[in-house]
Amino acid sequence: MTDPVRRLDCDLAIAGGGLVGASLALALAPTGLRIAVVEAVMPGAGGHPSYDERTTALANGTVRTFQGLGVWRHMQREATPIRRIHVSEQGRFGVARIDAAEQGLESLGCVLPNRVIGAALWDGLRSAAGVEVIAPANVVSTTLEDSTRLLAVEHDGNPIEIRARLVVAADGTRSAVREQAGIGSERWDYGQTAIVTTMTAQRFHDHVAYERFTPDGPIAVLPLADGRCGVVWTRRPEEAVRLLALPDAEFLAEFQAAFGFRLGRMLKVGARYSYELAMSRSERHVGPRIAIVGAAAQGLHPIAGQGFNLGLRDAACLAEVIADNLAAGCADIGDAALLDGYASWREQDQRRIVAFTDGLVRLFGTSLGVMRGLRSAGLLAFDIFPPAKAAMSRLSVGAAGRVPRLARGVPLIGPAS
Ligand SMILES: Cc1cc2nc3c(=O)[nH]c(=O)nc-3n(C[C@H](O)[C@H](O)[C@H](O)COP(=O)(O)OP(=O)(O)OC[C@H]3O[C@@H](n4cnc5c(N)ncnc54)[C@H](O)[C@@H]3O)c2cc1C
Repeated sequence: MTDPVRRLDCDLAIAGGGLVGASLALALAPTGLRIAVVEAVMPGAGGHPSYDERTTALANGTVRTFQGLGVWRHMQREATPIRRIHVSEQGRFGVARIDAAEQGLESLGCVLPNRVIGAALWDGLRSAAGVEVIAPANVVSTTLEDSTRLLAVEHDGNPIEIRARLVVAADGTRSAVREQAGIGSERWDYGQTAIVTTMTAQRFHDHVAYERFTPDGPIAVLPLADGRCGVVWTRRPEEAVRLLALPDAEFLAEFQAAFGFRLGRMLKVGARYSYELAMSRSERHVGPRIAIVGAAAQGLHPIAGQGFNLGLRDAACLAEVIADNLAAGCADIGDAALLDGYASWREQDQRRIVAFTDGLVRLFGTSLGVMRGLRSAGLLAFDIFPPAKAAMSRLSVGAAGRVPRLARGVPLIGPAS
């Protein structure tokens, strides 16, 4: 009688082939490891949780990482550079600007639709040697057995048992794999919903990204190809429900009242989507034969556009620690000392970005008069204080702290490693 369970042995099994999980697999493919990627939803399918209609602001370090993975040339055509960031508060006098040229940079990053990033990553995975993609398939559970970790997977109603030296949880903010491995997390809801859409404005965006704080929630307007703009408009959940149901003309009028006329009149709005916003953080980045990356390690408010950039640095750091250990002759990629090296590298970056993002939400989320005064003064002072701008610009280009090789444009494997 044949065994109904397919068994697959590999070195690395990645649960979740979203933006971060797929990038990690591509980063490690050149090491020759046998890699399995398990993804619940086929890219291109409507409502994909990672490759959807959002647009993402990519830091320069993220662009360099994609270049190193060999996928940037497939995205570049649709990427729109950000040359300036403009921060303002509705009804207040302070304005802050960060200018790429002032910082000696060509751009502060790029904006790309998530589905374009997803298509390039998945094309790369299809041709990557040693990578097996299992999709659409669900990781059901994970257990430890001797010197391996097992993943029980459901693929088209058929069970698969994957045995790996190391499992990576890249399955998003509510990571079931992280929980199954006994790693706790904290989570707090902001009581805010992000409305995501695209708009066409009367004036060209001129490669400026706008961040505007209003008493009802922040607005981000990002430059896109064809002169369009990507919009993330944050409101209280009941307000978001009302706005989502409005006819286009009324929606545009309410948006215009909140955003102002920096881009002239807003002429057209595309399809609208909504996301509940929360902060979540894994207690640890590692456990026995498991590493946590991306949104499974931390889910952030999109106010500062840092979530994916931070998550991709998780993947680049883990890939670097694994590649260096392999080069040094340590074949066991689930080794506890290797994983500790990854965890201690990630702690500071995570702490800094979580504090920065959460701090912004709280600072601009209060209506206390004294705080409003401080914010205006802060924005003005920021605009004329070069060191603060330089520090903020380093953060926005993803170049603060110890930066992984891929994010610096240095190959993972090669003479430098
Ligand atoms: C409105 C909004 C705007 C944003 N804008 C920005 C921005 O401008 N810049 C930025 O850096 N970040 C931004 N982010 C954050 C960014 O989208 C996330 O950080 C990013 O999606 C995280 O990628 P991930 O691969 O870790 O997780 P996800 O994107 O959540 O992917 C997880 C994947 O795991 C799969 N999966 C889940 N469970 C299972 C299972 N049991 N078995 C198999 N597969 C499974 C899912 O199908 C999915 O594909 C934004 C977020 C929001 C909500």
